[in-house]
Amino acid sequence: MTDSPGTGQCDCGAIAGPLGVCADYYHAILAEEQADPQMYRWHAPVVCAYLLQHPSRAHEKYLDGQFRRLQLYVDKGLDALLRVAAHQVARNRHGAQSSYDMRPLAAYAPLPPGGSPGYFRATFCGLPFRDGSFVSDGHLAYGHHIETIAEATVESWRSVQT
Ligand SMILES: [Zn+2]
Repeated sequence: MTDSPGTGQCDCGAIAGPLGVCADYYHAILAEEQADPQMYRWHAPVVCAYLLQHPSRAHEKYLDGQFRRLQLYVDKGLDALLRVAAHQVARNRHGAQSSYDMRPLAAYAPLPPGGSPGYFRATFCGLPFRDGSFVSDGHLAYGHHIETIAEATVESWRSVQT
C-alpha cells in the first residue's frame, strides 16, 4: 500500500476511491437514488451493507436485522427482499404489536458477536462512478455491483463466527 497524499483509508479498511471514502460514496448513492426510482430498488441492501461494513456508524440493536435482511437478499434476490419489506410496511400500517415481523428472517444466522470482521473483498469506494453517476452502465450493472458488495459483507461477517 502506498501512502500517497490525497488518498485516505476508510475505517472498513478500503482504500479511498476518486470520490473519497465509503461515506462519500454512500451519500452520493443516497442523493442519486432519490431521483431514480429504479436505482432506489437497491436502497435496502445498500443501507444494510454500508452499515455492516461500518458498524461504528450503525445502531447496534438494528444490525442483527440488517445482517439477516442482507442474507435474504444474497440468498433469494432483490424481489424477495422487497416483498418482505412491503409485508412489514403493511403490518405496521395495521397496527401490529411488533414493528418488525422477523419470521421471514428467522431462518438466517444472527449477527456474530465479536465486532466487525474488518476486511471486505468488495467495498463502496470500489464502486464505478462515471459521468457523475453510479448507473452510467445501466441499472443491472449497478445491481450486480451492489450484490457483490452484499455477498462480500455476508461472507466476511460469517467468517467472524469460526
Ligand atoms: Zn469503508
